[in-house]
Parts: sequence; structure tokens; C-alpha cells
Amino acid sequence: MQKADVAVLGAGIVGLSAALHLQARGREVVILDRHAAPGQETSFGNAGLIERSSIFPYFFPHSANKLIRYAFNLAPEAHYHPSALPTIFPWLWRYFRESGPSGAARSFAAFRPLIEQCLAEHAPLSAAAGAQGLIRPSGWLKIFHAASSFDAGARDAEKLKSFGLSVDILDARDVLKREPHLTPPHGALHFLDTASVTDPAALSQAYLDLFLARGGHFIAGDARTLEQYARGWRLEMTQGHLFAYDIVVALGPWSDQIYRPLGYQIPLGVKRGYHMHYALQKDRQLFHPILDADHGFLLAPMTRGVRLTTGAEFANRDAPPTPIQIDRCEPLAHNLAPLGDRLDPAPWMGARPCLPDMLPVIGPAPKHKGLWFNFGHAHHGLTLGPVTGRLLAEIMTGESPFIDPRPYRADRF
Ligand SMILES: Cc1cc2nc3c(=O)[nH]c(=O)nc-3n(C[C@H](O)[C@H](O)[C@H](O)COP(=O)(O)OP(=O)(O)OC[C@H]3O[C@@H](n4cnc5c(N)ncnc54)[C@H](O)[C@@H]3O)c2cc1C
Repeated sequence: MQKADVAVLGAGIVGLSAALHLQARGREVVILDRHAAPGQETSFGNAGLIERSSIFPYFFPHSANKLIRYAFNLAPEAHYHPSALPTIFPWLWRYFRESGPSGAARSFAAFRPLIEQCLAEHAPLSAAAGAQGLIRPSGWLKIFHAASSFDAGARDAEKLKSFGLSVDILDARDVLKREPHLTPPHGALHFLDTASVTDPAALSQAYLDLFLARGGHFIAGDARTLEQYARGWRLEMTQGHLFAYDIVVALGPWSDQIYRPLGYQIPLGVKRGYHMHYALQKDRQLFHPILDADHGFLLAPMTRGVRLTTGAEFANRDAPPTPIQIDRCEPLAHNLAPLGDRLDPAPWMGARPCLPDMLPVIGPAPKHKGLWFNFGHAHHGLTLGPVTGRLLAEIMTGESPFIDPRPYRADRF
């Protein structure tokens, strides 16, 4: 039987980051994943933003106009499966309620200290992993086609500036100075604090390589074989068993596979999302990730090509893919940017793991000694992996946590 102090279940960006932080505190750590390589699921296909300027979590809109558009599946940024409503409606309703004024204020207060540390926590990991080349200090552009939405965006930008963030407000001419090959929009905001990753899966691989170089182990196996055993926990590997005193559940949208059989009722939902890569037309370039605010899609220049990522799809996690949002946004993206052909045989699909208050669950499982949670990073797992990994490692090793961990506890619902 192989032994470890800690087994981290899940080799997405969240599990990898937690493993590195535990290892740095002297723990012998094993990472287990069902894939032979790290970062092959949600952490593979995201838009690559380390979103320092996103100090407000993504709340459910309360405006009548948006609600009507969502109800009739007319908004490109959101889509839902009517057949899934009986199962997803209770979660959606909770999300809607948590997005009201008092819930939103609570989530904002708890989210901000995490976001504020995101770049500072990625920096030492990416430096030690030799992966700085994957992270650009580009910021990102939020572009607007309509004067009314631009004016509202500019007002929001002023609010962000009051929190110390740097945002340039650009008219069409200024936009073209920064992105000369775009079709001119009405205007844009350039969020300057954010960094962007050119290949999120390569960043996961670099973090795993660092973990292995520091003496960690990575094994393939099924987390669902977890059982309490003697004074710790046991997992089945392809050959033999793994014993660990502590378990970290970092299975992203699949974390319920562990906590549910153990009797926890944590309201984890998913917002699915898609991506597709495109070639650029000859002699054309994009220099920043670009969110089309009026149409709800994002274009990010990446190693493989320009990655178009979609907004949220509300559906059962395991339902077959329905990449309607890619089909809707693709012609709009062609109108905006100098895109060429599709580069992927089919759209990629992932599922953002979300709690109704848009905060992750970080900390001990209340009813089981040696069981720890770190999941539910919603739209910001790439951003927050290293921050929440640090927080969890501090809690697990008895250090003083750098922020109050109570807003993220598992029994808050
Ligand atoms: C379209 C889209 C765009 C996004 N853009 C951004 C962005 O720009 N910036 C940002 O910060 N975030 C973004 N996100 C969110 C971010 O990708 C996620 O929050 C993050 O990847 C979650 O990481 P994770 O490690 O928790 O989960 P995952 O990356 O899904 O990792 C979970 C791991 O658990 C493993 N696993 C599951 N079940 C088992 C099992 N039974 N046994 C063993 N292993 C198992 C999986 O193989 C996987 O490796 C985006 C998400 C989507 C979908």
C-alpha cells in the first residue's frame, strides 16, 4: 500500500495549487486524477484570464429586460435546457436570491480579498515553474457596440477605479490604436490589471512538473473509490491502494461524487461553457483578450489560435453538449475580428462549478476528520487556484490564515 500525508483528489488548477502549497509546508502529497495528464477538464478550456479586476462575482441579473431575454433563451450570453428545469430550477432560484442586494454585498465582501491576491499568488508558482512565458500582462478589452451600454460600462469603470483598479476608457479611435485589426466598436474599456494565460493546460502541466520536481507524486485513479480506513482514508489505484491521513476534494464540478455519499448537502451547480479555436487571417493579429459585452462572448489569442469562449449554459452537468452559443456567436465574432477557419473538430465543453453565492467552498468537511474541501470556483478557478490553495494549506497546517476563512465554510448553506 502506498502512503501519503495528503491525497489531493483532482489535478485541475485548484488541486494542483493546493498540492503545491501543502508540499511547501512539509506535507508529503499525492495528486490523484482520472486522467493521465493534469488540467484536462474545466482548467483546460477556459478563457485564460487571471482576472484581477473582477472584484464583483457574476451575479444573476435582476433587470426585467435581461430576465425576459433569458426566459426566452434570446440572450447569447446565457442559454438553458428547458428539459433540465425540474432539476436545475431550485439551484437557479437560490442563485437568483443570493444575487439580491444583501447576498451580493456579502459575496462581494468575501470575494474581494481572494481576487486581490490572485496575481501575487500565481507569480511565485509560475516563476518557480518556469512558466512566466505563458502569462502576459495584457489586461483585457471589454468592447461595446451601443452607446447606451458603453455609457453604463464607463460608469462601472469609474466605480472600479475607486477600488484602485486601472481602467482606460477608450473611444473607437483609441480602440484601434490597441487593436488595429478589429472592426471599430462604439468604445471599450481596457482593464489593465488582469493577466492572461496563452495556454491554460500548459500552465497546469508546468505546475504539476514543479510539484513532481519537489518530490510529489501524481497517480491515475478514480476518486470515487475513497473510503474511510483506520485513522485515515484509502483509495484504489490501478495497482494496489493509496492510504492518506488527509484528503482534499478538488474535483471541480465532480466534487459531489465524494461529498454526497458522505452525507453533505452542498448546493453545487454548474454553468456550462464552450470554446472553439479559429485561425487568424493572413497578416492580422489580436493582442488582447476581448469581451464583446453586447453579445456575450470572449475572444482570447492563445497558442493554438484565437479561442472563442461562451457565456453560461444552464443544463445538467452530464447532458450531451449543445453548443448553440458557439453557433450564435461565431458570425458575430467574424464581424468583429479577422478570424479565419475553425481549428477544432468540435466545440470543447466544460462546466464551471458554482455555489449559489458564487464563492468557493474551502475548509474542513464538518462531519469527517481529515476530509477537506476546495471546490466551486465558478468563473474564477484559474484566477483563484493559487490563492485558495494557500488558504486551504494554511487552515490544514494550523497556520494563521491570511484572510478570515469563515465565508467559504462548507456548512454556510
Ligand atoms: C468557458 C469557460 C471560460 C472560463 N474562463 C475563465 C477565465 O478566464 N478565468 C478563470 O479564472 N476561470 C475561468 N473559467 C473557470 C475555470 O476554468 C474553473 O473555475 C476552473 O478550471 C475549475 O478548476 P478545478 O480544478 O476546480 O476543476 P477542474 O479543472 O475541472 O478539475 C477537476 C479535476 O477532477 C478530475 N476528476 C473528476 N472526477 C474524478 C474522479 N472520479 N476521479 C479522479 N479524478 C476526477 C478531473 O479529471 C479534473 O482534472 C472558465 C470556465 C469555462 C467553462
